[in-house]
Amino acid sequence: MKNERTLVIIKPDGVQRSLIGEIMKRYERSGLKLVGVKMIVPTAEHVENHYTIDPEWRRVTGEKTIKNYKDKGLPPPSEDPLAITTIILANLKKYMTSGPVIAMVWQGVHAVKIVRKITGGTEPLTSDVGTIRGDLVLDSYQLSDTDGRAVRNLIHASGSVDEANKEIALWFAPSEIVNYRLVQEQILYDVNLDGILE
Ligand code: GDP
Ligand code: MG
Repeated sequence: MKNERTLVIIKPDGVQRSLIGEIMKRYERSGLKLVGVKMIVPTAEHVENHYTIDPEWRRVTGEKTIKNYKDKGLPPPSEDPLAITTIILANLKKYMTSGPVIAMVWQGVHAVKIVRKITGGTEPLTSDVGTIRGDLVLDSYQLSDTDGRAVRNLIHASGSVDEANKEIALWFAPSEIVNYRLVQEQILYDVNLDGILE
């Protein structure tokens, strides 16, 4: 359990807004361990492979987007989920290839869920205060759809352990992940805390 891993990407807007340190700090101070990190400019093909790693992503995201429109009393741009995701994916490719990103692997107990909690919900307009997307950016689907671009939400974070394992394999070679001990793990995970007093 303590070795669960998740993939986090600081998207190009996060790098351009000089938020790398602020964002890394928020994950780091939780107690998670950084076991892989690099800066790259992804290709469009890599971005497409990343978002379609889950074969259901196109359908689920399209259906979710249609529901978002209808919940607001607005007509969706199409009734076909796959047509909607085609537009979202094209916008994501433009967004994610516009500059360097920081790809990271964080490790620790419940890494996937802890990182999602710290990251916040997908749409910054409704992400909880105290989360990265809730505190550091202000975009909405309403604005991004009007302007025909991807929503600028600073971060990608894996949604499940299975997704994380596939995404980590897509972004990192095994040799780029470092296995090491972090001294604080003795405090985070030690059962007896019996190594403190002299
Ligand atoms: P995440 O796991 O929180 O990043 O969210 P998803 O995996 O559901 O979506 C991935 C990306 O697809 C998001 O970062 C958005 O760019 C886009 N996306 C997801 N849902 C919507 C939506 O309802 N409307 C629009 N315009 N884009 C969406
Ligand atoms: Mg996702």
